[in-house]
Amino acid sequence: MSKEKLGLNTICAHVGEVKDEQFKGAVSPMFLSSSYEFLDVDVKRYPRYFNTPNQEYLAKKIAALEHTEAALIFGSGMAAISHMFLAFLQKGDHLVVQNTLYGGTVNFIKEEFPKYGIEYTFTNGYKVEDFEAVIQPNTKLIHIETPSNPLLTITDIKAIAELGKSKSILTSIDNTFASPVNQNPIDLGIDMVMHSATKYFGGHSDICAGAVASSQEHIDRIWNVSKNLGGSLSDMTVWLLERSMKTLGLRVKTQTKNAMKMAKWLNKHPKISKVYYPGLKSHPEHKLAKSQMKGFGAMLSFELVNGLDAYQFQKSLQLIKSSMSLAGVESTVISPHLTSHALLSQEERDKVGISDQLIRFSVGIEDVEDLKQDIDNAIAALI
Ligand SMILES: *Cc1c(COP(=O)(O)O)cnc(C)c1O
Repeated sequence: MSKEKLGLNTICAHVGEVKDEQFKGAVSPMFLSSSYEFLDVDVKRYPRYFNTPNQEYLAKKIAALEHTEAALIFGSGMAAISHMFLAFLQKGDHLVVQNTLYGGTVNFIKEEFPKYGIEYTFTNGYKVEDFEAVIQPNTKLIHIETPSNPLLTITDIKAIAELGKSKSILTSIDNTFASPVNQNPIDLGIDMVMHSATKYFGGHSDICAGAVASSQEHIDRIWNVSKNLGGSLSDMTVWLLERSMKTLGLRVKTQTKNAMKMAKWLNKHPKISKVYYPGLKSHPEHKLAKSQMKGFGAMLSFELVNGLDAYQFQKSLQLIKSSMSLAGVESTVISPHLTSHALLSQEERDKVGISDQLIRFSVGIEDVEDLKQDIDNAIAALI
């Protein structure tokens, strides 16, 4: 059976299992060896070479989910993104990167690229024209993030892939927010996909990991850099990640359904002034999102009406946790103006549309009626 033909949940449950030949157990054994036979073997295995049995096999599951030939698993999402960038950019090269981007990626580019002599330009927006406008003769990579954090803007993946191809520039995407359950950028022509596996892949807020999926050729090139930089994931965590990923489809589909219901409900709520969710018809890129996503994802943001304090609102929630990370089975919220965008001035925040009333909501698997009740109770406590 070809892997591409298997359904999403079958890939989640089965692809990339390490067979237990000795005892015929149902799940992958955990191989913790950091030392392997080297005489007369085909593969010289070592954890930092990303090729212990658990690492090698789980990478097959990720590659199957993203419709690529190969994948590499890292110790964090930032390790995945930094190794990918450093494999394809060297001194004198230029990166075009979306302005609305995960904060850690922004920091990596701004703090580390000057040390390597790599040039970069942040776009002025998330539309294809914004990317095209800043391409230079030495541009080697275009990197996008869609849906973006925290305002859920949507970038045209196919148009970006075509732009890259027309100018012989590679393209990459941070697919963390959508996950392969809701979006397969490789099918739309993007060259490389990366994930913070800390988020939906892990899904239970207890793993820090990352991954890149691409052609064998690109993955080999990344591997050549990664074996020098280190950053592989411990096999115990790889094993835990495999267990988590068996339910990736089930979790994310439920979370996505819940997010749609919550977005519609919040959109009608008298104490909520605005909802940002690509699944709503009122979202400016709803049609584009519909054309390139299988589902609209489980992340959304909303604004409380003026006069309701966002900090107090979060303190008043009982079920929904205010928590920095996202994508767990439990619903969480954060205030971007107190966390990811806290270092910006009020003026800068106004410019990018991050108001003090904005709440980012990672929708979990709970029953939506309970989530609605929790939000209603928290609002009632403020009035
Ligand atoms: C969390 C996150 C990252 C970074 O991943 P870590 O696992 O924290 O290193 C990158 N991109 C996005 C969109 C994220 O949400």
